Amino acid sequence: MTKLKREIAVVGGGLAGLSAAIAFAREGFDTVLVAPKPSNGDGRSTALVGPSVTFLSDLGIFDGLRRQAQPLAVMRIIDDTGRLLRAPTVEFRAGEIGLPAFGYNVLNSDLAAALSAKLAELGDRLVVVESGARTLSYEGDGVEIGLDNGDTIIASLAVAADGRRSVLRQAAGIGTRNWSYPQTALVLNFAHDLPHNDVSTEFHRRTGPFTQVPLPGRRSSLVWVERPETAALLVDLKPESLAEKVERQLHSILGKVTIDGPVQAFPLSGSIADRLTARRVALIGEAAHVFPPIGAQGLNLGLRDAASIVKAATMARDDPGSSTVTARYESERRGDVLTRTIGVDALNRSLLGGYLPVQALRSLGLATLSSSSMLRRFAMREGTSPGSGLFGLPETLRNAFAQANTPPR
Ligand SMILES: Cc1cc2nc3c(=O)[nH]c(=O)nc-3n(C[C@H](O)[C@H](O)[C@H](O)COP(=O)(O)OP(=O)(O)OC[C@H]3O[C@@H](n4cnc5c(N)ncnc54)[C@H](O)[C@@H]3O)c2cc1C
Repeated sequence: MTKLKREIAVVGGGLAGLSAAIAFAREGFDTVLVAPKPSNGDGRSTALVGPSVTFLSDLGIFDGLRRQAQPLAVMRIIDDTGRLLRAPTVEFRAGEIGLPAFGYNVLNSDLAAALSAKLAELGDRLVVVESGARTLSYEGDGVEIGLDNGDTIIASLAVAADGRRSVLRQAAGIGTRNWSYPQTALVLNFAHDLPHNDVSTEFHRRTGPFTQVPLPGRRSSLVWVERPETAALLVDLKPESLAEKVERQLHSILGKVTIDGPVQAFPLSGSIADRLTARRVALIGEAAHVFPPIGAQGLNLGLRDAASIVKAATMARDDPGSSTVTARYESERRGDVLTRTIGVDALNRSLLGGYLPVQALRSLGLATLSSSSMLRRFAMREGTSPGSGLFGLPETLRNAFAQANTPPR
């Protein structure tokens, strides 16, 4: 049984935890990453937008990933609900806000490999302990984390990046509001005959979105949200039959489709932590927030959490787990997390419900976006540089919005 003393302990080796641990070590903090052996095979991709690309570039990760990352120049939303009140197609073009691309789509497995390779370059600054965390207690001016392997870590700050069932969050006494959706997301990658021209298309359907995102070459990733019983049938289809269905849902915009690799299913749920911090503990990534895969938000939010907690810690180098650091992090991240959680939840529910006023509101919103280049530019800037939209509103308006839209328990 050993006791390891470090300034920072990051618990969880998913994409948020890996990025945070590297960022802390590069800032000169003695860091330990507590991460059980990864379970293999995440077939998902992530559309990395503005701040995520900057953060990963600053970590020295992004340049090496460029060949595996596909620029996203156009994002298109097509109303495929077949309902009476259908919205017009909305196209967001990065060129309209003077950008070559909104971001880049990369396979999570490629991103994880690039991050793991970077871990190895950081020498003694970053120690990796291959174990799970089990307990949390306080020891003088530090936090003590008990591990599954019997070892103990003492740190000034513990960063919980241990996912939606976070042991550290529970041990720190932070509650969550959880909810589920009658939906499962199927994830797969596919090759296609026609070029995608850097365009991502999100079809809004009655059961949820069906989103194609370009990958390098004539390949794309797909997130197909369906009712759980339909998803179960689709997963069991032969690749050729599934490919036909994908092509049909895409209205053949990419020509013939060939399924490329396995199909994975993710039951959809949502969760938000009551607080992002406790004494000497900060939550990042899905330990803090979980929502459906609409508009490519989840990991982007997690990477912004990681960048923010590292920045806060650098402002109190003597004691990076002090209440000044956790309070700064809480106040910097709360608004972004809350508005994204509420926005994605509302959009998803507006697709599922047949309630006419809600459909009318959704159609009106998309119609307004489609016809107003000013609003479109506002939405695009908010999507790529969060904070310039809702969070920039006066606090009273923000609070009123948050109260009116508190997600379900
Ligand atoms: C279908 C789908 C598509 C998505 N597409 C996008 C997208 O395009 N863009 C986007 O931004 N986001 C997307 N997301 C969301 C994104 O994938 C997640 O937000 C992200 O993967 C979460 O990363 P994380 O590191 O926070 O959590 P996780 O990946 O869950 O990592 C948590 C880690 O903690 C470890 N762990 C668990 N318990 C312990 C313990 N006790 N001790 C130590 N370690 C522990 C686990 O082993 C795991 O490695 C999508 C999600 C889904 C479901």
